[in-house]
Amino acid sequence: MTASTSAGTLTFLDRIARAREVMADRGVDVLLLSVGSDLPYLCGYEAMPLERLTMLVVPRDGDATLVIPRLEAPRVTEQPGVFGLRPWNETDDPVAIVAELVGRPGVAAVGDTMWARFLVELLGHWPSGTGATGTRYVRSTEVMNALRTRKDAAEIAALQAAGAAADRVAAQLHAGEIPLVGRTEAQVSADISARLLAEGHDVVNFAIVAAGENAASPHHHPGARVIREGEIVLTDFGGTMAGYCSDITRCVFLGDPPAEVAEAYAVLHEAQAAGVRAGVVGNTCQDVDRAARRVIADAGYGEYFIHRTGHGIGMEAHEDPYMVEGNDQPIEAGHAFSVEPGIYVAGRWGMRLEDIVVATPDGPLSMNHANHDLVCFR
Ligand code: ZN
Ligand code: ZN
Ligand code: ZN
Repeated sequence: MTASTSAGTLTFLDRIARAREVMADRGVDVLLLSVGSDLPYLCGYEAMPLERLTMLVVPRDGDATLVIPRLEAPRVTEQPGVFGLRPWNETDDPVAIVAELVGRPGVAAVGDTMWARFLVELLGHWPSGTGATGTRYVRSTEVMNALRTRKDAAEIAALQAAGAAADRVAAQLHAGEIPLVGRTEAQVSADISARLLAEGHDVVNFAIVAAGENAASPHHHPGARVIREGEIVLTDFGGTMAGYCSDITRCVFLGDPPAEVAEAYAVLHEAQAAGVRAGVVGNTCQDVDRAARRVIADAGYGEYFIHRTGHGIGMEAHEDPYMVEGNDQPIEAGHAFSVEPGIYVAGRWGMRLEDIVVATPDGPLSMNHANHDLVCFR
């Protein structure tokens, strides 16, 4: 479980009011949020990710209701005026309770991570269709993205604090305080995880450690591979702190890097900086990808950059907007996203460089300031 955010009742009232404005614009009659981040974003409560239904029911007009298992009701911090509580008992049918609360809506927006079983059961009450007899189902992102992608000042401060905590672990790596040679990737991953917690994170979301040829696999799972002299080590780690995520990638080299590695890293460094510079209001999300990719392609490494340049970040480690070719969504002030190009030569080595950036009216604001160089331990 992640810790809840420090947002207060007024923030939630404002967010629900803005969600209702979007619902009115889009013709959405009811918003149904269960497991996932939309729920704590709107009302401060995070559902237990278990089989019993928790659901915030937000009609466009009328009061919001949190339908919750009676045994979990004591976990709820009351938010006067934000929502009413409707606890259900073990012998009740909670989906029927949700259906009775609102009556059949014309359009229902449902959370991405609501369990499929609840949606299937809901379809029994409100069959899918359009017009007089059916309900049209849409993703809650249609309502929530306009709110959640534009981080407010408190959210940006939370991202900065999480980024600074991750930076401190990166600085420990660069200072040689995290032993590498002779340890397994899994041991180093556990060490980094402990340091993320020591620096203030509430949970660790991932700590990728990939040595040598393993670094060519962007989502490598750290294992029993022993780290040796003369190879690159890619680390990509992050966690959640006060409800908001960090995510940073740095590489180090154990010894003197061969010319091909040093040359590729110089290109990567330039590409990452170009991606950050493109993260400005007025550009589109795909412009960030294009700016980073152009530098890598022009240097002849295009075929070795095998993923999008970045992802949005906030309460979730990966969320909208995505920095990918084809996403012509304009970058807006408050958009928070990673810029993380990579170069991966299968079977030999890989490298990636990642910072989190927030677009502001004054330009891109980086959440990470750790050394961007390929730090070498000679
Ligand atoms: Zn990833
Ligand atoms: Zn990362
Ligand atoms: Zn990332």
